[in-house]
Amino acid sequence: MIEQLLKEKLLLEDKINRDHLTQLYNRRKMEDDLVEFTNHKNSFLLTTIFIDADRFKGINDKFGHEAGDRTLIYLANKLQIYAKSLNGEVYRYGGEEFVILCFIAKDRLIQGLNELKEDIKAEKIFHPIRDISITVSMGVSFFSDSKSTIDMIKKADECVYKAKANGRDRIEIA
Ligand code: GH3
Ligand code: MG
Ligand code: MG
Repeated sequence: MIEQLLKEKLLLEDKINRDHLTQLYNRRKMEDDLVEFTNHKNSFLLTTIFIDADRFKGINDKFGHEAGDRTLIYLANKLQIYAKSLNGEVYRYGGEEFVILCFIAKDRLIQGLNELKEDIKAEKIFHPIRDISITVSMGVSFFSDSKSTIDMIKKADECVYKAKANGRDRIEIA
């Protein structure tokens, strides 16, 4: 009986930490993890990558909301694979915005992110009208250069704005 209740408690906890559409961790879980990660012995390696899908509204408008949802699931799966290889975790921050928190040295990071960006762009998402392709803009910031976790997230977000202003399908680093 107690064992069963504990099992249900764990399942429930996992559910409140996840986004329903993509099954990724959500922003709430990201905020919990940030507290833990900044107290980690490797916190000097902690890096934030903010990822925003380019012209996503256009995908909904052209192909429909259901195709938009499938595109978000496609992105979520790609990000999950790369987050692992970057020694990190991915979260759906909101809408068409994702965050990766990872522990990695700068030289390896840039190569991995370039591969991720190109991989996302190369693969197509099936649609009867025509296959959908998507690009992303990314902003990168480092805990070691930030005053706080809020400052780190803000810096990464500002870099996304810069990537958008500089033509999208780009990575900008704080
Ligand atoms: P930009 O390149 O500047 O980022 O342009 P954008 O169109 O991606 O940005 P904008 O913020 O104008 O639009 C985001 C769109 O994402 C609007 C919203 O309807 C859509 N969206 C957010 N969440 C979901 C979702 O769960 N499913 C679908 N299908 N669309 C979503
Ligand atoms: Mg956005
Ligand atoms: Mg967008």
